[in-house]
Amino acid sequence: MPSSILAFRQNKISKPLLAKVRKILPPLSDTEQDALEAGTVGWDAELFSGKPSWQKLLSFPRTELSSEEVDFINGPVEQLCEMLDDWQINNDSKSLPKEVWNFYKEKGFFSMIIPKQYGGLEFSAYAHSQVVMKIASRSISAAVTVMVPNSLGPAELLLSYGTEQQKNYYLPRLSSCEEIPCFALTGPFSGSDAANMPDFGVVCYAQHEGQETLGLKVTWNKRYITLSPIATLLGLAFRATDPNHLLGDKEDLGITLALIPTDTPGVITGHRHYPCRQAFLNGPTQGTEVFIPMDWIIGGQPRIGHGWRMLMEALSAGRSISLPSLSSGAAKLCASTSSAYARVRKQFGVPISKFEGIEEALAPIAANSYMLDAARHLTTSLVDQGQKPAVISAILKYHATSRMRESVNLAMDIHGGKAICDGPNNYLANVYYSLPVSITVEGANILTRSMIIFGQGAIRCHPYLQSIIRAAHDTNQHQGLEDFDKALFGHLGWHTKNMCRALWHNLTGGVFASAPKVKHTHKYYRHLTRVSASLAVVTDITLLLLGGKFKFKESISARFGDVLSEMYLMSCVLKQHHDEGAPEEDLPIVRWCCLRGLHNIQEALQQILDNYPSKPVAWCLRRIIFPWGRRFLPPSDELTHQVATLAQLPGATRNRLCQGIYTGANSDAPVQRLEEALQAVIAAEKIEPKLATLSRKMDSQQRIKTALEQQLITDQEAQQLLLAEQLSAAVIAVDAFPPGTL
Ligand SMILES: Cc1cc2nc3c(=O)[nH]c(=O)nc-3n(C[C@H](O)[C@H](O)[C@H](O)COP(=O)(O)OP(=O)(O)OC[C@H]3O[C@@H](n4cnc5c(N)ncnc54)[C@H](O)[C@@H]3O)c2cc1C
Repeated sequence: MPSSILAFRQNKISKPLLAKVRKILPPLSDTEQDALEAGTVGWDAELFSGKPSWQKLLSFPRTELSSEEVDFINGPVEQLCEMLDDWQINNDSKSLPKEVWNFYKEKGFFSMIIPKQYGGLEFSAYAHSQVVMKIASRSISAAVTVMVPNSLGPAELLLSYGTEQQKNYYLPRLSSCEEIPCFALTGPFSGSDAANMPDFGVVCYAQHEGQETLGLKVTWNKRYITLSPIATLLGLAFRATDPNHLLGDKEDLGITLALIPTDTPGVITGHRHYPCRQAFLNGPTQGTEVFIPMDWIIGGQPRIGHGWRMLMEALSAGRSISLPSLSSGAAKLCASTSSAYARVRKQFGVPISKFEGIEEALAPIAANSYMLDAARHLTTSLVDQGQKPAVISAILKYHATSRMRESVNLAMDIHGGKAICDGPNNYLANVYYSLPVSITVEGANILTRSMIIFGQGAIRCHPYLQSIIRAAHDTNQHQGLEDFDKALFGHLGWHTKNMCRALWHNLTGGVFASAPKVKHTHKYYRHLTRVSASLAVVTDITLLLLGGKFKFKESISARFGDVLSEMYLMSCVLKQHHDEGAPEEDLPIVRWCCLRGLHNIQEALQQILDNYPSKPVAWCLRRIIFPWGRRFLPPSDELTHQVATLAQLPGATRNRLCQGIYTGANSDAPVQRLEEALQAVIAAEKIEPKLATLSRKMDSQQRIKTALEQQLITDQEAQQLLLAEQLSAAVIAVDAFPPGTL
């Protein structure tokens, strides 16, 4: 562009606009800035672009397990699951048995993220996820205990930010479990608003090991800290201050992270909390003016004040693995047990799975299982490729845990009294009790949906917004104007293209939208392209209208977040189906997930427009986004029936739905008994029509005997029928406790 035109554009258009933007943009605190800049974006930004590159998604390499990882999962993890008696753990001893702790230590369960050079297992994020998922399907308490040392905490922080000396000292000790870590961020007065912690450390000199040493006197009061009751190494977040200017001019140095041995004088490990009846260890920690030398700061003195950024980066990786894996394990357990139980349990003379009401509950359970597995696999593969997905990890945290909750609630309904009466044979009740833990930790769900997903997503995924904000905050006026001008006109071009794209695709039902050449599912890719353009347009206009006030419009932000989340989850489902060789038998589940996703997207966009800050603008946007009204219908009853039927049918699809969880194949676990009953019932169903002429007034044993006498069935068939009866009765039975034992 000729320089005279550029100068004219900058002076007459960009300059006055920049002045306006500077006025309306709220100032960003350091912690907000860190949170916005931490981690990476990738596929989420592509979904936001208005024209996602499907080739990029489909060619993205999915992590597969190495033979060493497979051996670990089939060996020590299977053995661990056999050792775990969740009823005994949660109800009798209220802690994990000593032999389980020893087994964790012996097999290196706490060192999955630590490289081999430090004695760790050095597993991929995907393998780590498979391990947590399998344990979670057996015992939530045991899974949480494994999750914590492998997630946000000392090891993860040391690996990214530790000094060589810290790594060489602590990582081998963490690998061998000589050190049990915990990480303390939350306090009584700083929960979700963790950055606002009152805990502080004052830079000073004090005597340490007989020498005058530079360090900090730290005071803290933290609660809800997992593993704190037995931790030997406390990761601690506090605000560092330097009132005596021992380090420089700055007084408030910012959030700082340190590693403190818990036997340091002044460290108080409080009594245990008891979260939702779960036996994993959790409790408070306190300290008053506990002196720590500078080299206990993670990364040493240069890292003072950088703690929030470090935490946000580490959270992106950890949040992508732990809770999504636990949720996926629980969702798969619901899919495997509910589908089997519904087929085994008969009421009104037929398996309850035949009732449409039960199908309505089974279909989302199956879909959630498929979708969470797909999202878990893609997201851990992103981490394995070196990404620290900031927005995607928030999407996954919220949706994995809330869809697990949906599955568990529906599974409880399908099981009726069987899942309510607790005891060693109840495989669901404890997962149900533990739900609020996953919902609350690592960013409570309401906050994550209302503020985090799109609050971060809009800025991080938008191709120009971050540059505009950066330019507006630039103290160098000339550079700021240049950058602003560039971003502004890039943005205008992008916006215009998306406006045309959205209008065209929405008018033509997306038939001309880009999609990969795949059989059966191409239309869902097209719809996603169409939705991507619509999302980009509505976001731009809304941000223009609301400016800095967008931050406080949580309901609108939450619904935008829902749109982006559904798009991500749908793209995971499509990729999973593609990567698994596009099996046709899985298509009903893939369709069900996509139709529900598109319907949810439509409803979220609709609600945004219904509650729009400007009615005339909403009217115009409605013409672009919904020119023919609401066209995305939820899954039909027929599709729901197909999905529910598939979920109950032993075979490849059902195996894929439940892949990777503990089945109790080598034991007498209740889930294994249920699986055996399912097989027996399905075999018996083929014989039962031969008994159709016999009166239903007889009890089942009598009917089988009569059928045999009348030679309607063979001896072998009678045995099969009796076996199905016997196994079903065992599965339907619930625990009862003699007086004095409860
Ligand atoms: C079992 C358990 C284990 C834990 N382990 C650890 C650990 O190892 N280390 C550690 O540091 N912490 C840990 N935590 C703390 C956990 O991260 C916090 O509980 C969580 O951050 C929420 O804080 P809070 O419980 O004080 O809830 P609050 O912050 O009081 O939140 C209450 C409700 O308000 C909502 N809310 C808050 N702000 C907003 C907003 N702006 N918009 C919308 N809604 C909002 C929240 O979503 C929530 O629903 C653990 C907690 C539990 C229960």
